[in-house]
Amino acid sequence: MLAAKQSFILREVEEGTGAAIGLEEDRSAMQTGLRLWFADLPRSHSPIVTLRPVGLNRFRATLTFGNFAADTIGQMNRADAEEVQLARALVASVAHSADVRFTADQSLETWRIHDGSFALSAEKRKIAGRFEEDALAVTCRELVIPILAAMAELYGYDPVEEQVTPAGEVEGELSISTIRRRERNPRNRLLALRIHGERCQVCGFNSECHYPGVSSIIEVHHIQPLSLLGEPRAYDPSTDLIPLCPNCHRAVHTKRPLPWSPDELRAMYHD
Ligand SMILES: [Zn+2]
Ligand SMILES: [Zn+2]
Repeated sequence: MLAAKQSFILREVEEGTGAAIGLEEDRSAMQTGLRLWFADLPRSHSPIVTLRPVGLNRFRATLTFGNFAADTIGQMNRADAEEVQLARALVASVAHSADVRFTADQSLETWRIHDGSFALSAEKRKIAGRFEEDALAVTCRELVIPILAAMAELYGYDPVEEQVTPAGEVEGELSISTIRRRERNPRNRLLALRIHGERCQVCGFNSECHYPGVSSIIEVHHIQPLSLLGEPRAYDPSTDLIPLCPNCHRAVHTKRPLPWSPDELRAMYHD
């Protein structure tokens, strides 16, 4: 049942994570599942998410590591604080619609991957028509993609082009390139849309309502670049990033270096 939808699932997960994904059937349990991993790593070196139908109307996604993943885990442990925070927020977003369980002594807020014995599972219940494409797309978006995206973030799997800072660039501009990189990071985008939805926070435009069948055109904006004001503050992807439609996003950045705030733009907005 699940095996027949392999290419659909592969497309959803690659688009959602911004990573190339390897996929194969897993017949080690009663109901056939699918194993997904980072295609640029041998499976035995990669984090692996196994998606499996359970019972009559559930899906369970389990994260484990291949037998030779020690170097990969080593690299993931060198992730910086921002990447760790984004990874944890992505996994925490899974708990909105699923039961998330970790191996011993780990919690949603503080989990850390010490070695290959790390595992987590997320189970989503009462999924109607679970092998139909609509239900599978939701399952991918709510279970598989945030978990793999969290791993991709820790691994530093970065499809976004590297920013090269020209010599002599002032600190304000350096911050702007950091902010632009965050805005374009597909995993920051994923988290912002999972938390805030597909609706522009200034004009209320909803990509799904206006263009059903067109993939989302909503963009993600970094709301409070206080670093530009010389006030260092911990960056929180769940509150600092908001969805804006392309028009409002363009409008917000017509003021530089500090963009208009969403409140300021809302005050200027007319239908
Ligand atoms: Zn808008
Ligand atoms: Zn922006």
